[in-house]
Amino acid sequence: MATTSHRPTVCVIDLDAVRHNVATLRGDDGVALCAVVKADGYGHGAEPVARAALAAGATWLGVALIEEAATLRDAGIDAPILLLSEPPPSAAPAVLTYNLTPFVYSPAFIAALQHAAEQQDTTVNVHVKIDTGMGRVGVANDNITQVMSILGESDRLAIEGIGTHLARADETDDAARATTRAQLDRFATALDVCADYGATPTYLHAANTAAALTSPASRKLRCATGTTTTLVRCGIGLYGLSPSVQLDVATYGLRPALTVHSHVSYVKRIVKGTPVSYGHRWHAPCDGYLATVPIGYADGVPRALTNRADVLIGGERFPMVGTITMDQLLVFCGERPVTAGDAVTLLGTDVAGGTIRIEAWAHAAGTITYEIASQLTQRLPRRYVPERTVQAEP
Ligand SMILES: *Cc1c(COP(=O)(O)O)cnc(C)c1O
Repeated sequence: MATTSHRPTVCVIDLDAVRHNVATLRGDDGVALCAVVKADGYGHGAEPVARAALAAGATWLGVALIEEAATLRDAGIDAPILLLSEPPPSAAPAVLTYNLTPFVYSPAFIAALQHAAEQQDTTVNVHVKIDTGMGRVGVANDNITQVMSILGESDRLAIEGIGTHLARADETDDAARATTRAQLDRFATALDVCADYGATPTYLHAANTAAALTSPASRKLRCATGTTTTLVRCGIGLYGLSPSVQLDVATYGLRPALTVHSHVSYVKRIVKGTPVSYGHRWHAPCDGYLATVPIGYADGVPRALTNRADVLIGGERFPMVGTITMDQLLVFCGERPVTAGDAVTLLGTDVAGGTIRIEAWAHAAGTITYEIASQLTQRLPRRYVPERTVQAEP
C-alpha cells in the first residue's frame, strides 16, 4: 500500500468508544477482562484496539493465531495473551517464544508444549479448555481425568486458568438460556474434577460478550480450590457491535467504534426506467440523480447488499441501487441535486444525526456483525480518533 492515500473512502475507528465499551463490559463486579482482538481486532485494527482496551482496564488480550499474537508482541505489547485455540503441536516452541498463554486440550499438543518447555528450560502457564456443549475444541467432560493427569505429571506446565465457551449465549429465548445454564453447570462439574486433581487456577472463564452482558452467573465462576478471578473474554462488544439480532448492545450502552465515509465521485441524471449496473438488477422508478460512490465489495461492502441498504448524504437517506461492484456502488438520489464531492456516510452517524449500523448491513446481507466487520479489507484505509492513544481513563 502507498503511504499516501488518495482515496476519499476511509474507515474511522473511535478508540474512545472502545475504551467506553471496555469499561462497560468490565462493570464493577471485579471480573477481569480479556479483550479479544483476533482477526485484526474484528477488522478494527488489533494493535490500536489492544492498546485502547489495555488503557481502559483490560488485563488480557485474546487471539486465535500465533501470528496474530506475534504482531502484537512485535509492536511492543507485553500484556498476557490468551491463545484461544491450540496451534499445531509443531508450533509449541513459538508459544514460548512469544510468551503466550495457550488454551490446551489435546494430549498431543500438551506433550509438544512440555517438550518445548524442557528444550528451552522454562515453564509455561496454560488454561485448560473444557467443552461443555459448544461441540468444537476443548476436553469433553469424560476426558478431563486423562488431560488433568497428564498435566498433573508435568513439571513444566502450570494450570493458570480453566475455561469453556458458550454456544447460545447470544440468544434470548428460554431454550437458549437453559442451554447456557446447562453449560455452566457442566463447567462447575468439570471444575470439581479439576479440583480433585489439585488444580488451583487463578482464572476461570466462560463468558463471551453476550454472556458478559446477559448471564450474571457467567461473571462469578467458582472453584473448590483457592481464590479465583472470573475472566470475561469479550470481542464483539469491544467494538460496540451486537452479537445477534436478539441482543442489541445499544441497550447496554455500548457504542459502535467504526464508521465508513466516502464522497460522491460522479453524478449523472437518469430517466425513469434506466437500467443500472451489472445484470441490470435495478431500473430507475422515476427521473433523478444517480450518484457513484467509490467503495465496493473488494473493500468489504457485501455484494449481498445489492438493492438492500442505504447511505446518508447531506443528512438524508438514499438507497444503494443496482449490483454492488468491486470498486464502486450506486446511489439513487431522486430529485435531490447531489454533486461530486458531497460527503457520504456508509456506516455510522452523519452530520444530521442519522445512523446506519453494521447490524443493518448484517441483517440485510443475511449474516452477523462479526462477519461484516472482519471482512472489511485492507484496501479500506483505517484512521483512528483520537489521533494518539491517550492515558488510561481515571
Ligand atoms: C472469539 C471468541 C470470543 C469472543 O467472542 P465475542 O462473541 O466476540 O465476545 C471468546 N472466546 C472464544 C473462545 C472465542 O473464540
